[in-house]
Amino acid sequence: MEKLSSLARFKSSCPFLGGTKTSTLRALSSTISPRFPSISQLTERATGCPIMGPALVMRSTQMVAGYASVAGQADVQKIHHSKGIFPGTSVSEADIAKCPHASAARAAARMADDLAAASVTAKAPEAGKEAPSAAQKAAAVGKEAPSTAQKAAAAGCPFHKAAAATEEQPAKVPDATEKQATSATSGAYNYDKFYAAELDKKHKDQSYRYFNNINRLATKFPIAHTASVKEEVQVWCANDYLGMGNNPVVLETMHRALDKYGAGAGGTRNIAGNSAMHLSLERELATLHRKESALVFSSCYVANDATLSTLGSKLPGCVYFSDASNHASMIQGIRHSGAKKEIFKHNDLNDLEAKLQKYPKDTPKIIAFESVYSMCGSIGPIKEICDLAKKYGALTFLDEVHAVGLYGPRGAGVAEHLDWESHQIAGQSPEPIKDSVMDRIDMITGTLGKAYGTVGGYVAGSRDFIDMIRSYAPGFIFTTSLPPATVAGARASVIYQKHHVGDRALKQINVRTVKERFAALDIPVVPGPSHIVPVLVGDAGLAKAASDKLLHEHGIYVQAINYPTVAVGEERLRVTVTPRHTAEQIDGLIGAMNTVFTDLDINRISDWAKLGGRANVGIGKENVAPIWSNAQINTAGQPQTLRDGEAAVVDVTAIQVVRKSFEDLLGAVELNETERKVEAALLTGAAKHVAEALPKKAKATLAPVNPVDVPVTSTVAVSA
Ligand code: PLP
Repeated sequence: MEKLSSLARFKSSCPFLGGTKTSTLRALSSTISPRFPSISQLTERATGCPIMGPALVMRSTQMVAGYASVAGQADVQKIHHSKGIFPGTSVSEADIAKCPHASAARAAARMADDLAAASVTAKAPEAGKEAPSAAQKAAAVGKEAPSTAQKAAAAGCPFHKAAAATEEQPAKVPDATEKQATSATSGAYNYDKFYAAELDKKHKDQSYRYFNNINRLATKFPIAHTASVKEEVQVWCANDYLGMGNNPVVLETMHRALDKYGAGAGGTRNIAGNSAMHLSLERELATLHRKESALVFSSCYVANDATLSTLGSKLPGCVYFSDASNHASMIQGIRHSGAKKEIFKHNDLNDLEAKLQKYPKDTPKIIAFESVYSMCGSIGPIKEICDLAKKYGALTFLDEVHAVGLYGPRGAGVAEHLDWESHQIAGQSPEPIKDSVMDRIDMITGTLGKAYGTVGGYVAGSRDFIDMIRSYAPGFIFTTSLPPATVAGARASVIYQKHHVGDRALKQINVRTVKERFAALDIPVVPGPSHIVPVLVGDAGLAKAASDKLLHEHGIYVQAINYPTVAVGEERLRVTVTPRHTAEQIDGLIGAMNTVFTDLDINRISDWAKLGGRANVGIGKENVAPIWSNAQINTAGQPQTLRDGEAAVVDVTAIQVVRKSFEDLLGAVELNETERKVEAALLTGAAKHVAEALPKKAKATLAPVNPVDVPVTSTVAVSA
């Protein structure tokens, strides 16, 4: 199965599929075979290839054997318990679905059966021949093929026993006769059967999602407790990229706003939910991107969907040009607009230009793309896309969701980062810098839920564009606005990061360390210039097993990323490294990942190289220069990776700017005598962080494990 996603790339060297157009290959790879529902049409066709066919069947048989060997291990019981499954004598269908390895094993078994059947069909296609028998199918695989569930059941797994019993009767979408029968007896549609069939499809194509119960602790970042309050794990995949979700001045501002304005917004922006907090956040965001206006939504998913759907449906004859790797929110927005769309190959300027050329210059066009692509870590060619937009009369829509707070001297994103010096010189001025990359982008969207650590999304652009979206977008108008305390926290976070470059610089240092250490161990990371560290696994079952092993055996939580978020065969563990992970925690991650790769025999870089490469791993493209240069990192001084027990640095000057910015609404922050002394020590450089500046008695009140440093009037008790 692993080879499939690479077929398009090997087109030129494959005599069997080489003549097929890439677009056809792509369409075939994303269409389920009507005869063999666990495989795509492309896989079905590939089983007819004299080279790929036997290889596919053999690989799927190996996967089956792999699941069977996992079934007997003691850690399986731990996984069951963590999922709330307690095996007894009777095991229900629902329990099999809940059990990650039983359901994955069953999906693998079905796929193995389908591949065997498809390969037999492909080998004996002459008209008039009988369909192959079960014995023929088994013979085609080269040996007797007991099912996965049967093998695993023999290894003692109770769920596999039940799976073995039921795998011969997979749930399926009711056909016309069944529907008729249902209506004849009860007169009603069988909704339960419908839900079960939809879920079964997810299990079959391995896209069923498992959500881990993870409770990130504000005083112990990056530690969380699991479903059990006593069980603590390290989080290595959160999008709270900088730890701003528990930054002391963010929390302090939120507490103050909550006390003053209460829990909720009380209405839509149109009716009672439009507060000074909302307006000041929008001004802050407009200034961040040096645009005339900005508009805040409940999330950036909503911002993208609402903006793109509104714009595309209003602009007459509008055509969207959308990067093939765009986020679901943009895809949905474009779809909802009803406008025509052209999808260009990821980051491929030639393909984009070829598509733009098809339309007259006066046709309204919008190029929609991202700066940092969060699943592979690539960065969009923003400047070059602006050049094409100008040449062909298009607007540009840039999603900076995975870049705001993380790139640029003030954290405005990659567009700002590309003109670092001009933006640094311009400081906090709201004025656009003419012809800078950020100035040339017409619409920028961002989130407040990732690097800014809170929640919400926004779009920034010209005054009239923003006013139009505000006036027409249902996703903005007809929903309760964000609570004032949340909006205040988001603004505090944006202001803090505008004035403090240290967190994002230290993040880059830690990211570099982790990438280098993985490379030294031959552990494959999809190469890229950004902060994203996608560890390639290349198989859905293995990625899930690796994630489970990391969590249950090493106390490290990294979520597996599977289809449809990434292509089949490019499954990965997406590691996020923050400035708050300590050197010891980094050591732990590297060691655990290495052990898990060995235990599960996951392909390393050298293995991928032998196989011709996968997702740019193993083809000599590993050395991509990071977008953050050494000189840019040095603008933050020499930030040092934290050690266990060391307090994170908090920038007192940035805290003062935040407090000042809220004085009109929340009043001045009153400091007691100790707090004043601490502040003075920090400002004069006599102490590096609050914990160091506090008198002994007060220090004891701080959390012991990697405590977050607190501002001088934080909600953490500071008593002298
Ligand atoms: N755009 C991209 C590229 C994303 O990855 C995401 C979320 O993961 C969003 C938009 C949506 O952002 P939010 O989480 O604020 O809804």
